[in-house]
Amino acid sequence: MRIVCPHCGGKAVITSRQTHTPTAADLYCQCRNTMGCGASFVYTLALKHVINPPVAITAQLAMAVIKALPAGERAKLGDLWGD
Ligand SMILES: [Zn+2]
Repeated sequence: MRIVCPHCGGKAVITSRQTHTPTAADLYCQCRNTMGCGASFVYTLALKHVINPPVAITAQLAMAVIKALPAGERAKLGDLWGD
């Protein structure tokens, strides 16, 4: 992960991390532009949203939907896949 200093735009590094939850943490950063800046700051790293769920969850959701269908509708699905 590339960290950019919010003050000078130079490269910065993560010096430590404080994890709050499995999907959120504070990243303690130090600007590497020691002669012109040298700022230290904290970025928050957090999961925003899931684009594609894990395959196992997708399969569980699909099975739940299929099981909720009336028997006649489930039979039509089998016809679609050649079963
Ligand atoms: Zn800087």
